[in-house]
Amino acid sequence: MTSSAYATVNLNAVRHNIQVIRKRAQGARVMSVIKANAYGHGLKRIIPALTEVDGVAVARVDEGVVCRLGGFIRPITVLEGFICKDELLKVQKHDLNVVIHDWHQLELLKQCQIEKPLSVWLKVDTGMNRLGFAPEEFAEVYNFLSHYPGIRQPISLMTHLSSADLLDRPETHQQIATFKKLTDGLPGDKSIANSAGVIAWSEALSDWIRPGIMLYGVSPFAHKTGEELGLRPVMTLHSSLISVKKIQPGQRVGYAGTWECNEPTVLGIVAIGYGDGYSRYAVNGTPVLVNQIPATLVGRVSMDMIGVNLGLHSTARAGDPVTLWGEGLPVENIARYANTIPYTLLCGVTQRVVIKTTQV
Ligand SMILES: *Cc1c(COP(=O)(O)O)cnc(C)c1O
Repeated sequence: MTSSAYATVNLNAVRHNIQVIRKRAQGARVMSVIKANAYGHGLKRIIPALTEVDGVAVARVDEGVVCRLGGFIRPITVLEGFICKDELLKVQKHDLNVVIHDWHQLELLKQCQIEKPLSVWLKVDTGMNRLGFAPEEFAEVYNFLSHYPGIRQPISLMTHLSSADLLDRPETHQQIATFKKLTDGLPGDKSIANSAGVIAWSEALSDWIRPGIMLYGVSPFAHKTGEELGLRPVMTLHSSLISVKKIQPGQRVGYAGTWECNEPTVLGIVAIGYGDGYSRYAVNGTPVLVNQIPATLVGRVSMDMIGVNLGLHSTARAGDPVTLWGEGLPVENIARYANTIPYTLLCGVTQRVVIKTTQV
């Protein structure tokens, strides 16, 4: 028994989700996205479960270095590329592939001697207006990179979809059409789809797909859970009841008394709070499982604790197990109650939460 919150990360669920991704990929190679400490699951913990993927993608150079030193031997792509000479050197030293998205990076290439051939993805901004060259700039950059000494040929080509999780919007068709118009007939590998692209936009499937959230068993869509897509949740967040007591009508719970009891019931206090990464924005009524039985959050989330309404006839006792999200309680639903997306909940689990690896 422990009064601390902990999380389990199930590597068999990762392996299962990779199989689901493969089936959907229709032969495309899979670059699993493991940026931000593998979406909060732990980069080094996840890597051993990635034997069936063709490559990985991270956001930052240093994350790529961790993957390489952690023993990952297939292609590692740094989605934000390098931003200084030092990073360009690290990229070469650790054999990382990089995304080229800004003129600044071309200047750095000119300033540095490239010792080992560098594999690059040229990124086109087809409408997201985050990273990438504008379609009008594409030809110039493409010509530069496809003749530049030290760059492995042919160069690869990518774009990113801004709204693939929204099924009724025209932007995605436009983005894919813009990308295809620029790149059709060019020799390098191409990549468009994130998880939502893989699931909902078959025209976005190309040589490589870049699923992230799916790998962790979570849906990219607001209207569907991962389970409904055949995925298994990888992370489950657990804690325990540390106090159980009866409360009466008129009593209020938590800071500012935002929840008022209207019939006699049993209140449980759970050792989880925003200090663990449980969102302070979760509202009254957010589902929680106590002994696998549904209960609801009542009152404001504190740093270390929450209140839960267990119902008048509850037999729960201090020490009993509580599930906050994961197996049996989709994190997608919790995100809805906290007015956020599951990505932020998974990434937001804090240092205090001990993560245990399981394979069930
Ligand atoms: C994060 C990211 C992905 C993965 O997105 P998911 O929605 O988690 O599948 C793919 N491509 C790029 C460029 C990204 O930044």
